[in-house]
Amino acid sequence: RSAVEITTEALERIEALEPSLHSFLYITADQALETAKKVDAKIAAKQEIGLLEGIPIAIKDNMCTQGIPTTCGSKILENFVPPYESTVTQKLKELGTIALGKTNLDEFAMGSSTETSGYQVTANPWDLSRVPGGSSGGSAAAVAAEEAVVALGSDTGGSIRQPASYCGVVGLKPTYGLVSRFGLVAYASSLDQIGPFARTVEDAAIFLGAIAGYDPKDSTSLNIEIPDYTKFLKPKLSKLKIGIIKETFGEGLDPVVGEAVHQAVEQLKKLGAKIKEISCPRFRYGLPAYYIIAPSEASANLARYDAVKYGIRKDADTLMSMYTGTRASGFGTEVKRRIMLGTYALSAGYYDAYYLKAQKVRTLIKQDFDQAFEEVDVLVCPTAPTTAFKAGEKTDDPLSMYLSDLMTIPVNLGGLPGMSIPCGFDSLGLPIGMQLISNVLREDLLFQVAFAYE
Ligand code: GLN
Repeated sequence: RSAVEITTEALERIEALEPSLHSFLYITADQALETAKKVDAKIAAKQEIGLLEGIPIAIKDNMCTQGIPTTCGSKILENFVPPYESTVTQKLKELGTIALGKTNLDEFAMGSSTETSGYQVTANPWDLSRVPGGSSGGSAAAVAAEEAVVALGSDTGGSIRQPASYCGVVGLKPTYGLVSRFGLVAYASSLDQIGPFARTVEDAAIFLGAIAGYDPKDSTSLNIEIPDYTKFLKPKLSKLKIGIIKETFGEGLDPVVGEAVHQAVEQLKKLGAKIKEISCPRFRYGLPAYYIIAPSEASANLARYDAVKYGIRKDADTLMSMYTGTRASGFGTEVKRRIMLGTYALSAGYYDAYYLKAQKVRTLIKQDFDQAFEEVDVLVCPTAPTTAFKAGEKTDDPLSMYLSDLMTIPVNLGGLPGMSIPCGFDSLGLPIGMQLISNVLREDLLFQVAFAYE
């Protein structure tokens, strides 16, 4: 089929599904067809076509796209049209992918259900009354519902892996620094990382290879050689040691999820892996540490929305009331909560008790991981404690919402790569995700295990 046909089909599918799914905030149909025509012209002229050329993709709406609205799911950026392109989307453009549009997210990527978006609530394609997870819920739903082949997400505490798990797709948070964040609207800069959603492990490997790599415009970008990740996709797992994180199978875990992950581990054993139980005793302190560190960084990052440089402005008599009026009406409840938490944790007198303590906990968690990786190559645990919950179920209870990131957060605190892959269904037919974790820059091992299992 021609690129125009593939793109037209994708756009028709989006048109048919969006009234119930709401995964896109903005659809770039004209630009997509324009790009598709160029790809077809190359094919007609018998020019060589790259692997990703003509592939329809979706982009989480916290990545800047030149000339195309980028709202971050926030009313404060309702009118923001970036004058520049993020590095990841630039790379994908140059590779000839076809961007279909920008996907919905929790406001500024703060949330676990995509319900804090200032615009719309995205549904889970497996059960429209349930959430797709978050914050990259729009991207996860778009890939699961086959609106796009692959999608970009960002993950600060689980925002790629948890929605991947809820929507039954593959989601990868790469090593901190592997993918450039230039043009990604910052949430918590020491944790944010961009990564792929895909329906197969192979697609995820190809897509990561396309977006990874050194970028002088991102000071945290790692200057390393990027391997061809597809060469790690092999059917067997001989000599690989896999550790099951003991502490993740305790209280709060839906037994059906635990059972599915245990069965998946049995499968990994049959494929030749050596299985070992591993203890990460400080893993569970990740959640409280994260909810100090992430809001602290967010409170600083969000100071830029001052009604002058970006987004909407509520005019007022004084400068101060212009700031406060704009921020009061532009930010949603969850974002305000995070700003309050962050400014409190950083304020004089509380800094040592909260922020500094949380940073120490972060170091201890990294030590747990370092010890674990002296014994095994890859760690395994559930991605989330439950399957997708009902829309509205947790919106009034932030703490129970935060708990859905219990198992993904330590990975961000350690700067490690983590992948969620589908590993079964619960009794309602909702997908369950298994999380694979490796040491820094060992994405090769994640792809190896995930591919063999798939
Ligand atoms: N749910 C977590 C939060 O609200 C993680 C979000 C993310 O990874 N962007 O902060």
